[in-house]
Amino acid sequence: MNKDNKTLDVKTLHIGFDDTDSINGRCTTHLSYLISKVLINRFNVEFIDFPLLVRLNPNVPLKTRGNGAVCLRIKGKNYETIIEEITQIVAGYSELREGANPGLAFYEEDNISKDLLLFSQNAMDTILSKQLAIKIAKKNKIQFHVFGKGYGIVGALSAIGCILDSDHTFETIAYRSEENIGKSRKTNDLRVKRLSEESYPYTYNNFDKKNFRILITPHGPDPVFCGIRGEDPLLTTFFLKNLCIEEELDGYMVFRSNQGTNLHLVKENKGNDMKPYTAGHINCEVATLPYTINGGHVIFKIKDKLNHMLPVAVYQPTGLTKIARMLTIGDKIEIGYGVHLKSNNQPTLNLEYLIVKELVKVFGMKNPTCIKCSKNMKSEGRNKGYQCHVCKTKIRSIEKIKIEKDREIKSGLYIPDPIAHRHLTKPFSRYGMEKRYDRFEVIHMLKSIQWINDSGGLI
Ligand SMILES: [Zn+2]
Repeated sequence: MNKDNKTLDVKTLHIGFDDTDSINGRCTTHLSYLISKVLINRFNVEFIDFPLLVRLNPNVPLKTRGNGAVCLRIKGKNYETIIEEITQIVAGYSELREGANPGLAFYEEDNISKDLLLFSQNAMDTILSKQLAIKIAKKNKIQFHVFGKGYGIVGALSAIGCILDSDHTFETIAYRSEENIGKSRKTNDLRVKRLSEESYPYTYNNFDKKNFRILITPHGPDPVFCGIRGEDPLLTTFFLKNLCIEEELDGYMVFRSNQGTNLHLVKENKGNDMKPYTAGHINCEVATLPYTINGGHVIFKIKDKLNHMLPVAVYQPTGLTKIARMLTIGDKIEIGYGVHLKSNNQPTLNLEYLIVKELVKVFGMKNPTCIKCSKNMKSEGRNKGYQCHVCKTKIRSIEKIKIEKDREIKSGLYIPDPIAHRHLTKPFSRYGMEKRYDRFEVIHMLKSIQWINDSGGLI
């Protein structure tokens, strides 16, 4: 009997966890790497999907840096022992004293229940309570553990409920050996640049061409050495292996992810329904002229079809302020946004992308041209007519001409510079590259790719 038959009759075990890291770093992925090693080496389980790195609503005020949760989906035996072992690992690893509030959940089921799917969808663009998470966990017989304040239970459940059967990307994350954590990361920036160019457009946001800056390494004392983002797990791993990293790493793991997909902006909302810290997109019209405030940020108001007016803020680091300044009243636009509260409690839409759909015509007035020599005429003063500055012809009864001004701005999509991207921001190169999920293709990839490697020397 082969291994496949042995595991066919057991249910899938979904393991979700979140908020195990503090602001000191993104360790939740590292924890999932450690757990995956134990699951494979000690319990000989079979993964039915790549470890899933799920980024949740980036506008939630209570969050660690990236607001990422992880789900592992496995088939194996001795789930009771596995659950006990993992619970101990999570409790021992998490930075409880540093302000982490981990949540851990185990769901033994082949098909994810509808309420869990919906809960996860909502976690991308709204704020969900710990209480609701616990209610859904109990209803679905999900075993869960909370530590500290336990906010992580929301992310743990959201990760399990995120089947990611729509667009997705991959990230190969390399982890440092214990002795190197905290030391500065040495990378060959030219190599990162070259590999980014060679793999374009199948990798993204690894190198910022405009600012000549690498984007693959975090800067904190966390165990991540670097992460390579892209469309294909084989390519992101190839990229990593060709970086020729000098320090000896512990290993790497490939994640399937909703990063770079704009999954938090798919819902279209109306102007009268903007709750603080939610996200989405809206089709609207520019209602006031954009102006610049301190810090170089640009503010303007929009109105929706029912004339609900709302302020929009375009932050300077997005690199979109220049474009925003060129908008004018009446322009039809679509914007992706996160709702934030300004000091006066007014919900403000922080712009995440801009699509200019229709530009209004803008007119200006111009002095008339000379009837004799066609040169521009000069005003002689109020109600005194015009005189040609070349042939000196004077005409009293002539008026200014209405002309259409050049709008400078073009219709189309505008997104922030890579440096201002959030994990979920869909980069320019990904438009038109959106993927569908194919379960059999994923299983085939899992079998043919070395998606986890804990022998650091091989990298
Ligand atoms: Zn003239």
